Amino acid sequence: MGIRTGAQYLEGLKDGREVWMHGERIGDVTTEPGLCRGARTLAAFLDRVHEPAHRDALSYAEEGSDERFSMSFLKPRSKEDVERRGAAFYEWAKWSGGMFGRTPDYKNASVMAFAAAAEFLAGEGGRPEFADNMRRYYEKARAEDLVLTHTLVNPQFNAALAAAGRSSPEVALQIVGETDAGVVVNGARLLATLGPHADEIEVFPSTLLKASPENVPFAIAFTIPIDTKGLKLICRDSYDAGKSHFDAPLASRFEEMDAVVIFDNVVVPWERVFMYEAPLLCNRAFAETNAVVHMMHQVACGKLAKAEFVVGLLCAMAKASGKDKDANVKGQIAEAMWIAETVRAFLFSAEQQAEPDRWGLWIPKRLPLDTSRNLFPRLYPKLVETVHMLGSSSLMATPCEADFENGIAEDVERYFQLTNLESRDRVALFRLAHDLAVSGFGNRQVLYERFFFGPQPIMASIYYDLYDKDAVMDRVTDMLERA
Ligand SMILES: Cc1cc2nc3c(=O)[nH]c(=O)nc-3n(C[C@H](O)[C@H](O)[C@H](O)COP(=O)(O)OP(=O)(O)OC[C@H]3O[C@@H](n4cnc5c(N)ncnc54)[C@H](O)[C@@H]3O)c2cc1C
Repeated sequence: MGIRTGAQYLEGLKDGREVWMHGERIGDVTTEPGLCRGARTLAAFLDRVHEPAHRDALSYAEEGSDERFSMSFLKPRSKEDVERRGAAFYEWAKWSGGMFGRTPDYKNASVMAFAAAAEFLAGEGGRPEFADNMRRYYEKARAEDLVLTHTLVNPQFNAALAAAGRSSPEVALQIVGETDAGVVVNGARLLATLGPHADEIEVFPSTLLKASPENVPFAIAFTIPIDTKGLKLICRDSYDAGKSHFDAPLASRFEEMDAVVIFDNVVVPWERVFMYEAPLLCNRAFAETNAVVHMMHQVACGKLAKAEFVVGLLCAMAKASGKDKDANVKGQIAEAMWIAETVRAFLFSAEQQAEPDRWGLWIPKRLPLDTSRNLFPRLYPKLVETVHMLGSSSLMATPCEADFENGIAEDVERYFQLTNLESRDRVALFRLAHDLAVSGFGNRQVLYERFFFGPQPIMASIYYDLYDKDAVMDRVTDMLERA
């Protein structure tokens, strides 16, 4: 089939999936208030891939075939391929100003990398059939243009146990049995962003399992359709409260939903298992297959689009009030511009230094991307703070769309204008700023940036371990040894 249309995607979501939200089981996520508009946004994005203006940049065909696949499934065989992938990631992210973080290209990048490095799954602790499973799964995901989410983290029950690198058997997802048909798993996982809107879920291990016998039941990797019997998604409150696009320009479009995933004696068919009872293999998987680098690539492209969007918003806010002539205001916005340009520089550096890996793929250079993934969780809150500082009470002076039609319409038209913007446009602009920086939707974006790629101290610690410290320490030694 290859790239899907939005209608095909929405049709696929109408299955027996068990999704709970606002105290009820949801019948159909494509019509349910609070969920349906996020699904429609994603459907519209999939349709855009078919448009002549985007088709060649966002999809590719194998030589001699007309079947087109999403660019995020392309196995990069050259630096140009890495750049093509980056350009596609960036384009997808621009459509939401980076606010729909979990577009399918994120997980496609990981499935592509695991398939290319499938031999890793047959190595020590693995099995040859698991490597074949992964290769087949890539072909399936690519051909069916599946929308995937993932869940990596076990819920914590006992902090001391977690600190010792172990999972809590009371709550964590674990293997509880085997049948000829597959593995039986039970327990919970945090967190599946896009869960209710995904076709399938990739359940991979967090990379913090110590290789102790107690951890063996928790060490498993598989994928499974969301409508699998026994799988439940428990959603947080929706931030799409049904407001108009004018009133909630972001939340009304880009609600990607986060859900805790419960596995109630779920049977995972053997052909969908990629790692099994192998904590050490699980720990090494994302790094050694380079899946994490390809995911970081998608993420950096998205963060560039997101930072640019905030810069655009700040410039529009300053221009509207005439504050764009003020040196202090310009300085604040310049700091936001530096953040965007820093991410762009990391991305450029990573793509330009792309190199072949041992799996026969070209990968962008890890170090700049890793720097970006460690910095952005700290920089995005700073961008939001600048929206607060520049917006101030204007973020609260936000009558709703209906107020332009009702008994206070004249007041609203008169008292909400700005020197460079008539009232309706000013309110629209600051409602956008409010949605980005003040609303529940906006605050969730900050939380997402802080955590979605993992705990900051762990990511920083991995970065430290990988950094070429000897090269810089040698210079210190050299200085100390000078007579
Ligand atoms: C909006 C959102 C969306 C998410 N989407 C997904 C998703 O789609 N898939 C997925 O798998 N996960 C997702 N996550 C979960 C994310 O991976 C975790 O939040 C993250 O790994 C932190 O784990 P935790 O939430 O259990 O926090 P904890 O591990 O309990 O951490 C709590 C605090 O302790 C700190 N901490 C943790 N460990 C250490 C340590 N060893 N040393 C020092 N400090 C430490 C953390 O930095 C954090 O500040 C999402 C999270 C959020 C907030």
